[in-house]
Amino acid sequence: MRIAGFQKLTLLDYPGKVACILFTQGCNFKCPYCQNSGLICHKNDELINEEEIFSYLNKRKGVIDGVVISGGEPTVQSDLESFIKKIKDLGFLVKLDTNGSNPDLIEKLINNGLIDYIAMDIKNILPLYIDVAFVKASVDKLKRSIEIIKKSSIDHEFRTTIIKNIHDIDKLNQICSYVDGDKMFLQNFEQSENVLGKNLESFSKDELIEISKIMKGKYPNVKVRGIWGGNIYV
Ligand code: SF4
Repeated sequence: MRIAGFQKLTLLDYPGKVACILFTQGCNFKCPYCQNSGLICHKNDELINEEEIFSYLNKRKGVIDGVVISGGEPTVQSDLESFIKKIKDLGFLVKLDTNGSNPDLIEKLINNGLIDYIAMDIKNILPLYIDVAFVKASVDKLKRSIEIIKKSSIDHEFRTTIIKNIHDIDKLNQICSYVDGDKMFLQNFEQSENVLGKNLESFSKDELIEISKIMKGKYPNVKVRGIWGGNIYV
């Protein structure tokens, strides 16, 4: 596994659980809003040895509940399945963050009981995915991933990073319609030094409140998230 980041404790990334989070290196998308843009390409000098991860996990049995595997895009890793098996053998829950581009692997991991929670990003309306992913993503594969996750019995969520220059209410309506009332987070884009798209803009707090009112009227399970003054508002 190409792991380039390891946060030993997170209370935010696995809902209701105490977890650690691993950031895999390599991604098949090139989103200009990516907060982990340094992880998109392969760089051998930044990799973390798996032994370090498993040594930590062995000492944290009964202390942390789970492991979040994020990225980068974890499903581009050829040994993701065997890596997760090793984590599960130690008794930890596993949450996977994915861009949904690999439905076959997602289905396999779910069917084999290897993941306990999955979060999939839906970046834009499907015909205009390239405006956000900056690659020609397979619409069929994205649709399949959405269907597999929706029908699965494991905990899951969908989420869209909403960007003022890209997403209007019509698009957000369409995106929410893909998940058919399932759990969905619209999270405000945050500009930062890691973001390559310096022209991208966040919505203001008032605009988010308005978006929340409109979307909740139609999709009660949609939540809008934003950060002001260091606090997270939903
Ligand atoms: S899919 Fe995720 S990791 Fe990959 S470029 Fe987009 S935001 Fe970054």
